[in-house]
Amino acid sequence: MVTTTLTAKFRNCPCRLTTSFVLVAICITCTVHSLCQPFPVDTIIWTGPASDRINLVFLSDGYQSSELEQYIQDVHQVADHFFRQSPFSIYRQYFNLIAIKVPSKASGAKTNPSDEHDTYFGSTFNYSGIERLLVAQKSFAAQEILFEQFPLFDQAVLIVNDQRYGGSGGWLATTSVHESAPEIALHEIGHSFAGLADEYWAGEQFAAEKPNMTQSLSREKVTWRNWLDYADVGVYLHEENQTWARPHQNCKMRVLNPEFCSVCQESLVKRIHDLTNPIIHYQPATATLDQQNDSIVFKVDFLETNPNSLQVQWYVNQIPYDSYNELVLYKDPAEVILQINMTVVDTTYLVRDPAHLGSHTYSLNWEIKSDSTTGSDDHLVNVRLFAFPNPASDWVRIELSTIQNQPIILMLRDMSGKLVYQISGYSGIYLIPVGQIPAGSYLVTVSGHQVLSSIPFIKQ
Ligand SMILES: [Zn+2]
Ligand SMILES: [Zn+2]
Repeated sequence: MVTTTLTAKFRNCPCRLTTSFVLVAICITCTVHSLCQPFPVDTIIWTGPASDRINLVFLSDGYQSSELEQYIQDVHQVADHFFRQSPFSIYRQYFNLIAIKVPSKASGAKTNPSDEHDTYFGSTFNYSGIERLLVAQKSFAAQEILFEQFPLFDQAVLIVNDQRYGGSGGWLATTSVHESAPEIALHEIGHSFAGLADEYWAGEQFAAEKPNMTQSLSREKVTWRNWLDYADVGVYLHEENQTWARPHQNCKMRVLNPEFCSVCQESLVKRIHDLTNPIIHYQPATATLDQQNDSIVFKVDFLETNPNSLQVQWYVNQIPYDSYNELVLYKDPAEVILQINMTVVDTTYLVRDPAHLGSHTYSLNWEIKSDSTTGSDDHLVNVRLFAFPNPASDWVRIELSTIQNQPIILMLRDMSGKLVYQISGYSGIYLIPVGQIPAGSYLVTVSGHQVLSSIPFIKQ
C-alpha cells in the first residue's frame, strides 16, 4: 500500500528505542569498535561550534557509491523543508546539519525483514508486519558510526533510498525518499527529538502519556491546559479509544502537511532549550576583576532566534541598566565594589509553561574590586559536569559545558589519586572506556585555565 496523496494519514511510526539508547550504544560501540571506518562527511548547514549547537546528523542507507550525490540532494530537500517549518524556522541559528555518506552494496530497502538485500544498515519495510514501518535492522551500526565520527550528535536521521512510503521514530528518525519524505522526516523527528506521540490512533500498544497524548481529559487537568482554545487546541478524544485525547485535529503528528500544533511546537522548543544555552561567549572571562584600566567592556554573544525573542536585562549594583549585549563601565571614583549582573531568557510565545522558562533563565555575574587583593581562586569559572551512566561498566559518557570554549584536560583518577585515563579537548561529550579498569570509586576531574571541577564516578 503506497500512499500517494499528500494529505494521507500517517500510519504506525512508533517510537520504541528511546530510553535505552545511550546504554546500548556505548556497549555495542565497545564490542564492534574494530569494525569502524571513517565515511566522508558533508556539511549541509553550519551555524557555529558543535558544542554550542544542536547537531542533526544524517546517515544514508540503500545508496550505492554512485548514488551518494543523490543522497546529498535528498538531505538538502529535507533540510530546506525543516527550516521552513516552525519552530525550526525560528531557531535556525541553533542547528548544524551534517550528512555522513555511507555507501551500501545494494540500492533501496528490503521489502521484508527476512529478505537478502545487502545495505549498510539493513533497512526494511514491513517491520513487525506493518507495511509502512521502515526500520534499520542494523541500527547498532549507525550508533557505532555516530559515536566514532560525530559523538556530539543530538539527533540522527536515516534517509533510506527507496521510493516507497515509510518511516519510523525511535532514536534514529527514519524516512524513505517517497515524495512526502521531507514531511515524513519532520513527523519522525517530532517523535525522536521531542518524544511526541502520534495524534492519529496508532494502536493500543502505542498509547501512552506524552506531551500530546493523555488520559487526563478534563480542561483543568489536561496536559496542554495552557493552550486550550488557542489556535484550535482542545481536548479531542480518539474515536478508536475515547479514554485517550489529542490536542488538535490537524497537526503534523496526525496528518501530512499542516504545521505542528501549538502543543507539539512547545515540546520541540523545550527540547531546543534543553540542548542549548543562549549565552555562547562572554567577556571578561573571569568573574572577579580588578579595575586597573579606566574602563571595562562587558560583552555577551547570544544565540538568537529569528525573530529574536531573547529578553536581556543588565544590572549594576542591582539597579537595572538598559543594554543588550554590551556594557561599558568607567572607573568608579568612589572605589566601591561593583556587581554587574546580566540575565537572559527566551520569552518565545511558543512556550507557555512558566516553570520551563524559569528554568532556562541564564545569568552572568561579575564583581569589580577596586584594590588588587583578589586571590587566584576567585578567578575560577564554574563548569557543569555530568556522567552517565553512573555507575557504569563499559563506557561512561561525560558531558562537560563551559561557557567559554577553552582547552581543558579531563582526568580519571582512582581513590589513591592514581591517574587511569586522561584526554584533552574542549567542552562537549566524552566517551571514556572503563571496561578495563577495576571496579571501585573514581573521581572525574576537569581542569584548565580558570576551570576546575570534579564529580565522583563508580565503576561496577
Ligand atoms: Zn508517527
Ligand atoms: Zn500536535
